[in-house]
Amino acid sequence: MAAAAQDSGVGAGLTENRESSAAGGGGGTPASAAADRDRPVCLVVLGMAGSGKTTFVQRLTAHLHALKAPPYVINLDPAVHEVPFPANIDIRDTVNYKEVMKQYGLGPNGGIVTSLNLFATRFDQVMQFIEKKRQDHRYVLIDTPGQIEVFTWSASGTIITEALASSFPCVVIYVMDTSRSVSPVTFMSNMLYACSILYKTRLPFIVVMNKTDIIDHSFAVEWMQDFEVFQDALNQETSYVSNLTRSMSLVLDEFYTNLRVVGVSAVTGSGLDELFVQVEDAAKEYERDYRPEYERLRTQLAEAQSRKQQEQLERLRKDLGAVKMTSAPPEEADIAGPSDFIMNRGNLEEDEEDEVDSDTDDIDHSATEESKERDAFGNFLKARKEAVRVRNRKCGMPDVP
Ligand code: GDP
Ligand code: MG
Repeated sequence: MAAAAQDSGVGAGLTENRESSAAGGGGGTPASAAADRDRPVCLVVLGMAGSGKTTFVQRLTAHLHALKAPPYVINLDPAVHEVPFPANIDIRDTVNYKEVMKQYGLGPNGGIVTSLNLFATRFDQVMQFIEKKRQDHRYVLIDTPGQIEVFTWSASGTIITEALASSFPCVVIYVMDTSRSVSPVTFMSNMLYACSILYKTRLPFIVVMNKTDIIDHSFAVEWMQDFEVFQDALNQETSYVSNLTRSMSLVLDEFYTNLRVVGVSAVTGSGLDELFVQVEDAAKEYERDYRPEYERLRTQLAEAQSRKQQEQLERLRKDLGAVKMTSAPPEEADIAGPSDFIMNRGNLEEDEEDEVDSDTDDIDHSATEESKERDAFGNFLKARKEAVRVRNRKCGMPDVP
């Protein structure tokens, strides 16, 4: 896989742009709670193409720099022409999206998905970079590809989000274009999408109603708070979709109840103070409700991993033929031969250092997912490359190197 990655538009190693790292990391912060934290809050910015994600990240970056609390910024959009903010990590430094399209005979969307998949296989390195800088930054901002489904409904999006959320407080910011949601039917579609992402990511969630410089978001807030007002707006619509929308709005009522909504203009910067109040609240929600869940998940994974290790070791012992396998638990089993040492190592409680090591290995949820992903994805890349080779030969075209 590593070799495939090297000659497929993926750089040899993941790089961090040091010049855009924090200058000092001190100074004022949007909220005093942020100053007390020992780890940054990751803000994963999602939204439909053109909703203003990149402009929003740019504005947020400038705002935090002005407050002398520079964020750690990651661009995950491989196809963007220009990144208008200083990115500490830019997917484009690692993956050449155009080259990926050429090498694997993919169209623009396939190219973006594949680039993100290739990047996800290296995300453990990104995690190490963030870990190293955790004291210097209060926020990590993550800009995602234009098309929302590339991130939210792909394995790589899940791997990246889960990796972040298992180590840092993580909040999803769903950016929507308020000026394009003035029709109740479009508004409803957007809210349904937001709802699906909330259930998919299962993370604290903030809806950012962007572009309030064009239209104030109060109409949308009213629709969410007052069912009658929304119904009145719907009555103006005559299409059959309005009936569906009427039924769906009943379903969404529950979703609206606990939803954080902030009106923002990424162009003028209005609404950012309120946004940070909501971010701090969402970060608290992560600590209260989500962290215990992630920790429970880690423990389960650690147990599953150690069970798997145990099975593998038993198989190894069997293969070596040195041990008589019994149905008794491992500690009572007749242990002998070369596997003896390995089998015992994991159970030695006094071996502090070893325990720390194996713990770290065990809890790395993303790594487990990643390695699975890597295999399946490696096969996909091989198959694609072969298809391109066959096609090129048929057309008398030279092979791509
Ligand atoms: P992305 O695809 O979600 O990253 O969207 P972009 O950040 O590239 O923005 C898409 C378009 O919306 C660009 O033309 C931006 O200038 C514009 N835009 C973004 N935010 C705002 C805003 O708050 N107000 C206005 N008027 N335009 C905005
Ligand atoms: Mg963008």
